[in-house]
Amino acid sequence: MSSGACAPYDLKCKECGKSYGKQPLSICDECFSPLEVFYDLDAVKGSVTRESIAAGPASIWRYRALLPIPEGFQPDLPVGFTPLVKAKNLGKRLGASDIYVKNDAVCFPTLSFKDRVVAVALANARYFGFDTVGASSTGNLANSVAAQAARLGLKSCILIPADLEPAKILNTLIYGARLVRIDGNYDHVNRLCSLIADQYNWGFVNVNLRPYYAEGSKTMGYEIAEQLGWRLPDNVVVPMAGGSLIRKIKKAFDELVYLGIVEAKHVKFFGAQATGCSPITHAVKNNLDRHEPQKPNTIARSLAIGNPADGPYAARLIRETGGWGEDVSDVEVVSGIQELAETEGIFTETAGGVTTAVTAKLFAQGRIGKDETTVVCITGNGLKTTDVLQGKYDVGRAVKPRLAEFDAYLRELDGLPAAEEAELVAQ
Ligand SMILES: *Cc1c(COP(=O)(O)O)cnc(C)c1O
Ligand SMILES: [Zn+2]
Repeated sequence: MSSGACAPYDLKCKECGKSYGKQPLSICDECFSPLEVFYDLDAVKGSVTRESIAAGPASIWRYRALLPIPEGFQPDLPVGFTPLVKAKNLGKRLGASDIYVKNDAVCFPTLSFKDRVVAVALANARYFGFDTVGASSTGNLANSVAAQAARLGLKSCILIPADLEPAKILNTLIYGARLVRIDGNYDHVNRLCSLIADQYNWGFVNVNLRPYYAEGSKTMGYEIAEQLGWRLPDNVVVPMAGGSLIRKIKKAFDELVYLGIVEAKHVKFFGAQATGCSPITHAVKNNLDRHEPQKPNTIARSLAIGNPADGPYAARLIRETGGWGEDVSDVEVVSGIQELAETEGIFTETAGGVTTAVTAKLFAQGRIGKDETTVVCITGNGLKTTDVLQGKYDVGRAVKPRLAEFDAYLRELDGLPAAEEAELVAQ
């Protein structure tokens, strides 16, 4: 940020308020609740403005005054600042007049919104002196940690459930990361990572660096507000795994309002999950204080966290804002992927299929008003989950390089009778 003034921040326990300063720590040692970054926003009120932000680079670093970034940190990669596109064709199908797609399928450098959180976490990993970083991942996080660690010259060690999509595994190994496939689901992997982080003194982005990591998600919220012309939408639809992203978009909106950068507005938050792993939407629908952990069984692997760390907070946020939590079957996930591609030319992964299909469901249920401003958060790229489209498309036979052959083949594709037959019918 050109002015250079950053909001002072500290880690604090979200429940008991105990202060921890700046440490690689994610759980309160008094009450075992999660730690969160708290800012002194008053210190930057008036100096962080629409203009100071717009004068920054076209990346998440234009918001660095509102991120937990160590003093003197020099941003390296132009992460984020992805397109917000008005989705006219999708809107037509849904009967929605003012709907937008926030397209993190093209986030730099590894094509998912996880690039945002990793950038902020690794800025801190360096500051805390870790020479090795890691993650417990459902796929996209693995890709992003591996890539950004390579760029920053950090060693990495990444743990994943053994049965992840082949493309997500390859997209981790290509960067030279050490990858360990664990015979278990994400929740097993995550528990093991807590032990490893302590034992090896490594910086795990979503374990001991989690409070910093999570703040990176706020940048999606800042961008949505800025790209709408510095105003807030009426509704946002957000996919949920650990339940962190949805909360941080809310935090971003609240900060912008507090700083006088956007006008206050009541925004409804809608959370999307796959039915095969839907602890948070289940909690919302059944008005539970605490979600019941589930054993994931869905093709939406990137969202397959059965016991989400921020589940209770996400469910509460959804209820308090008057939004809703909805989930869709794996068949609907694939249709959602196809629908977004066919209407808007955006190829998203399974998580985006979840979000698109849930959005359609919410409009059909009348939970979102047709003329309200709605932003759909697309968080990952379809090239990473092509396995779920196996057998869905027929590539067709190879056609001889002759015009007549092409004419005939095109009629075939369009379901028309062969030309000679058509002539006979016409006579
Ligand atoms: C991780 C992930 C999410 C969900 O993020 P949480 O903050 O854990 O809820 C959504 N979409 C994609 C593609 C992801 O990889
Ligand atoms: Zn506490």
